[in-house]
Amino acid sequence: MGEAMSAGALQTEARPAARELVRESYKSISLYSPNRAPCRIDLSDNTNMWGAPPAVRWLVGSAPDPVITRYPRAYADELKRAIAEYVNVDATSIVTGCGSDDVLDSAIRAFSEPGESLAYPDPSFPMVEIFARMNGLTPRAIPLTADYDVDADAFIASRAPVIYLCSPNNPTGTSLSRDSIERIIADAPGVVILDEAYAEFVDSNFLDLVRESDRLIITRTLSKAFGLAGLRVGYAVGSPALVREIEKSRGPYKVSSLAEQAAIAALTYDRRWVEDRIVDARDARAALTQRLRARGFSPLQSQSNFVLVPVKEAAKLAATMRNAGVAVRPFSGLTGIGDAIRITVGPLDMIDACLTALDEGQS
Ligand code: PMP
Repeated sequence: MGEAMSAGALQTEARPAARELVRESYKSISLYSPNRAPCRIDLSDNTNMWGAPPAVRWLVGSAPDPVITRYPRAYADELKRAIAEYVNVDATSIVTGCGSDDVLDSAIRAFSEPGESLAYPDPSFPMVEIFARMNGLTPRAIPLTADYDVDADAFIASRAPVIYLCSPNNPTGTSLSRDSIERIIADAPGVVILDEAYAEFVDSNFLDLVRESDRLIITRTLSKAFGLAGLRVGYAVGSPALVREIEKSRGPYKVSSLAEQAAIAALTYDRRWVEDRIVDARDARAALTQRLRARGFSPLQSQSNFVLVPVKEAAKLAATMRNAGVAVRPFSGLTGIGDAIRITVGPLDMIDACLTALDEGQS
């Protein structure tokens, strides 16, 4: 007994304190903390404000026991087939994940060694810089051009083994030019990840480029147009050789059985419903943009399901709007833009409420 106690005491002395056990490169990373306090109308996260697809709603309520008690399929093969049909490629070109966040993180890890760099546009999806640092990479921000395109020469000159692009870009909502993307793909030394989380809302997407280049990975999500953000389903399309590497880096069982079944339902039975909501979102985007302009704002020309509006003191304005029952996402000091609020489009009554709150916040 005495012996056991003294061994324990010795061990305690030799061991570093728990706070010393953290990985050095993680010390500067904070937890992601968007303000998600409940709000009457939440237009802050670019999800489907028209609700959940009807067949998915039914399926979630009536899932049989094995969907809950058994493990999902390791790599969600049935879902891969449904996605392959949706994007018109072979299922060997698809990898899925727990949201496209998971797919992006896995892809970054798959194609880089710690210490290398990742080049990404600024401003763009804030998680990318965090994923780079979580994987031991040095993030290299490259400012967007004055017309919100990517600076192809700067990306090529970065020689980064992983280049991240986003079109339509979050938070600007603007699309990149085909010319810039093609130039980067043609001359990049490594892998190009093109994030098309908002592809369903654009006039034309870049999926065709995957067929032309085996170093391009396109990531997409069912969180936005398909209305499944809470179920967490994302995917990537690319050459089978690269996609398999992402799958290794992602690991098995990342898409739950319920999420897999729901995603298949949304992509098949509910496809028409989703397409109709995309039309609604595009109409709402045009209406919101026009009504913002009529108020003297200069919203960016969005190709997405949200609109970025440059304003003064975005944080203060968003707080006032939140008090009036409408949540929007504030950004402070965006490169080349300054302060801005990002408004997710929704049914017209939500847009009315948002504009009323905005008017109050401005007065
Ligand atoms: N990419 C972009 C550009 C996004 O805006 C988001 C979500 N805000 C994601 C990826 C991640 O989406 P999810 O993980 O829900 O698929």
